Amino acid sequence: MKTKSLPWWKTDGIICAGGWHPLAGRLRAGNQTEAAEQDFAWEYSEAHIRRLKQLGITLLIGQFDRGLGDQDQAKAQKLAGLQARLCHRHGLRHGVYLANTIYFESMLKEHPECEEWAAKTHDHHFVHYGGEQTWRWVACFNSPGWRVRMKRQIEKAIREVGTDWLHFDNLAVWPEPDSCHCPFCQEAFRRFLRERYPTPASRRRRFGFTGFDTFHAPNFYMRFAPPWDLDRINNPLMQEWILFRCWTVTDYIREMVEYARELKPDIRTPDIG
Ligand SMILES: [Zn+2]
Repeated sequence: MKTKSLPWWKTDGIICAGGWHPLAGRLRAGNQTEAAEQDFAWEYSEAHIRRLKQLGITLLIGQFDRGLGDQDQAKAQKLAGLQARLCHRHGLRHGVYLANTIYFESMLKEHPECEEWAAKTHDHHFVHYGGEQTWRWVACFNSPGWRVRMKRQIEKAIREVGTDWLHFDNLAVWPEPDSCHCPFCQEAFRRFLRERYPTPASRRRRFGFTGFDTFHAPNFYMRFAPPWDLDRINNPLMQEWILFRCWTVTDYIREMVEYARELKPDIRTPDIG
C-alpha cells in the first residue's frame, strides 16, 4: 500500500541550533568581546558545521535579515549562502532568520521611505523595540512598502541563499499603547469593520449608529486606567481593534508564506494551513 511520504522534518526530527545576529547586529547591540569578529567568522567554517553534525543538529537557523539596508547586510547575506551550502554538504537543513524590524540608522541611507514601513503610535511616535534597543523600529505589517521589502528578502533567501526554512521573528501584537495608527492601519481597520458589519442594522446594533468613514482606531492611552489594569474591555471599538490587530499579523504572514511557496513549494514556513 502506498503511504503518503512525510516531510523531512517529521522523519528526521528537528534538533535546532541557531544564531540570529550578523556581525553588524552584534556590534550595534554592544557588549561584545574582542573576539567578536573571529567568533562570527567561525560560524561560517566547515569545522563548525561538522561539529554541529556530530552533536546531532539537524537544522541550523542562521542570520539573514536583521532589517538593515541592503548594502549594510550584503556581506552577511553572502555568508548565509555559504552557510547553507556547508549545511547541505554535511546533511543539515538550513534556515534563515527574518527579524521583522527596521534598523533605521542603516535603512534610511537607502530607503528614506522606510518611515512609511514603521509602526506609528496614536501620538505619531515610532515604536522602538524595547530595552536599550533604540536603533530598531517595529514594522507595520499593513504597510504595502514593508510587505514588498520583505518579499524581496524572501526571494533572496530562496533564490540566492538556497535555504530550506524561513524563520520569521516578532510576529507579535505589540503591547498597547504602542499599536500602529498609521494611515495604512486606519484604512485597513475601517475595511475590517465594513466587512464584519456589512449592513446598516448590524452597524447600528454594534456601535449605536451607522457609518465607519469617521471612525479612528482607538488608542489605549487611558489616563487613570492603563490597559493592563482593566478587568475587561467594554468599548466595542477597542474589542474590534484587538481582533483587527491579531488579523493583521495572520494576514501578513499568510501573504509572505503564499509568496514563498510560489517560489519554492516545499519551503518550511509558519503553518498557515
Ligand atoms: Zn500601520
